[in-house]
Amino acid sequence: MSLRFDAINNLLTSEVNVECSKKITAIFGENVFTQKVARQFLSEEAFKSLNSSIKSGQKIDRSMANQIANGLRAWAESKGVTHYSHWFQPLTGTTAEKHDSFFTIKNDGTPIEQFDGDALIQQEPDASSFPSGGLRVTFEARGYTAWDPSSPAFVMEIGQGSTLCIPTIFVSYTGESLDYKAPLLKALEALNKAAVDVSNYFDKNITNVTATLGWEQEYFVIDEGLYNARPDLLLCGRTVFGHAPAKGQQLEDHYFGSIPERVYAFMRDYEEEAYKLGIPLRTRHNEVAPAQFECAPIYEEANLAVDHNTLLMDIMNRVARRHNLRVLLHEKPFAGINGSGKHNNWSMATNTGVNLLAPGKTPKTNLMFLTFFVNTIKAVHDYSDVLRASIASAQNDYRLGANEAPPAIISVFIGQYLAKVLQDIKSRVTEKMDETDESMLKIDIHKSIPELLLDNTDRNRTSPFAFTGNKFEFRAVGSSANCASAMTVLNTIVAETLKQFKKDVDTLIESGEKKEIAIMHVIREYIVSSEKVLFEGDGYSQSWEKEAEKRGLPNVKTTPLALDALVTPKAKSLFEKNEVYNQDELEARHEIGLEKYIKKVQIESRVIGELSTSHILPAAVRYQNMLANNIKGLKEAGMEESAYVSQTQIMTKISEHVNILGDLVKKMIDARKVCNKIEDTREKAIAYCYQVKEPFFDKIRYRVDKLELLVDDKEWYLPKYRELLFLR
Ligand code: ADP
Ligand code: MG
Repeated sequence: MSLRFDAINNLLTSEVNVECSKKITAIFGENVFTQKVARQFLSEEAFKSLNSSIKSGQKIDRSMANQIANGLRAWAESKGVTHYSHWFQPLTGTTAEKHDSFFTIKNDGTPIEQFDGDALIQQEPDASSFPSGGLRVTFEARGYTAWDPSSPAFVMEIGQGSTLCIPTIFVSYTGESLDYKAPLLKALEALNKAAVDVSNYFDKNITNVTATLGWEQEYFVIDEGLYNARPDLLLCGRTVFGHAPAKGQQLEDHYFGSIPERVYAFMRDYEEEAYKLGIPLRTRHNEVAPAQFECAPIYEEANLAVDHNTLLMDIMNRVARRHNLRVLLHEKPFAGINGSGKHNNWSMATNTGVNLLAPGKTPKTNLMFLTFFVNTIKAVHDYSDVLRASIASAQNDYRLGANEAPPAIISVFIGQYLAKVLQDIKSRVTEKMDETDESMLKIDIHKSIPELLLDNTDRNRTSPFAFTGNKFEFRAVGSSANCASAMTVLNTIVAETLKQFKKDVDTLIESGEKKEIAIMHVIREYIVSSEKVLFEGDGYSQSWEKEAEKRGLPNVKTTPLALDALVTPKAKSLFEKNEVYNQDELEARHEIGLEKYIKKVQIESRVIGELSTSHILPAAVRYQNMLANNIKGLKEAGMEESAYVSQTQIMTKISEHVNILGDLVKKMIDARKVCNKIEDTREKAIAYCYQVKEPFFDKIRYRVDKLELLVDDKEWYLPKYRELLFLR
């Protein structure tokens, strides 16, 4: 009859059984070219060369590359692999791969299996269709992928086939980055340098600092049959219509409930694939909204963590289909229901095994902690606009700054205790302080800060950037985003701030100040200049928006405007100085961000128009005819008008909604036509936002959702919210 009712009927037979009885340690990393495997498959020489390149980022020479490629092939073939692929993360937002076989034919006609160093180090994917923001046009027609040895190769099993995947960066021939990873690696290097310099004030043994990242991935899971009956989910990843179900998330019973069996089978299945690929998943649970879930790994070095997150998103999408389920990674798939984010837990770790954001036990280590803690706050304060731009997308706009969503204001939560510590420093560190005044240096940070904060009593859930005991948690990142975007910016702004900190402290030392005192002075100065970004209250409240405005904190609600922060003189200087992006690359990112935004809104607008005309209107008309026939019949049977008052009323209401709906759709299409004529990308994006999306999407939805309540349920072919959210 309709896909909706077919899907509901098929639900009962959709169960898929999985066997996962193995211990995790028995399979963990079995498809990864780990150090242990490398030792087994590489000569001593090749192993050393690979290792030193991982540690120092140095290039591997050709002869070594040949040896490593041979070792990789031997290992992969031992797992039945016949093809290899450079695996990369273009700016389209998904991962890309092009499979080549090891098989080739020699000049004399002999067929052989071969994988040489050149093929390992560099490839040329047919890249013309990946977004480049004009870069390849301006510079070179082509781009290439280059091996990133810092992320280990892995074997991806898809169906019956397996492929050796080589993690790579994607750059143009003139060196401009075209992907998410190349700038991330540069930002991590900038942070490493800056953080080592500063940490050497406290410990000369520190020679390396890495950023650590633990992401928490939220997602929805729904039945695939129901999904297929919703063209909006299929094409936009979110529902553009749908009346709120009688039962929503008010009861919050899903959060505490047990995981539904069908979803549980799916989780165990994707977890097993993840474990084989060395993704250290640790937690799984229900989230607040019905049908919403979360998983999180143990944190890792940021570059690897980013690869693992993108890999996992791919795996989840793929595995879900085996279970006749669909994963929704969209930031806001359902109106009126919580959205999904991807909290980025971030810190810095030294080669000496110290977490630089963990409060210490002695005054000296506390001073080190305070240094990195305050520098991070200052970085977020000084560059909150760039940080906001790093998480901007059409999808995330539905989650930030929209109704029923936290505002798009970047503020930092540090908890009452640390807020007090900072206030103390502010009032007690004075100009006159000299080396005889040692008491101030003995900043007594409560030994139990981590416990204090880890204990949920002092953990504000509404803050977009929160200190949670021994790490910061950037919560404004969208669930479908590539974390590299946010991580590139965060690491760059902290690097920049630390560099400035070093200069400021050195200046004071040169003028004769004792090191610790100089550090305290600069810390105090930074607290004063950035404290307006600190906020301990309810970040979702209206009063905060007002308060933030008074404080002069930016609150940019839409992507086209938020992206402006990427191309300000300040941003250009920031990224150029730290060698993360040059000006052209920034312009290109800006352009690509805007283009993506335009496309998303364009597609949504088309889907809204098409569904209104070809699904909603016919349903309304069918029901109206039924009512009309009914009334006619009653009249003919001699019934009085009072017998069909309800019917008449409903018909009138339906007519009203249908007329307004038709009118709005027509106007929206006209507005789109006007937008399409605009040449300038930024202006076009702004027009799509303020002339198409804002004036029409919600208004059209309002009419459709009203009709959903009026029209006979069996005439309504789009699965309803209650089915999408509660049937599994
Ligand atoms: P929550 O209560 O927010 O779930 P968890 O302790 O479970 O907090 O941690 C959430 C994420 O933060 C996990 O992925 C965890 O590995 C990660 N994490 C913990 N410590 C660090 C750190 N030093 N750097 C980066 N991420 C970390
Ligand atoms: Mg968390």
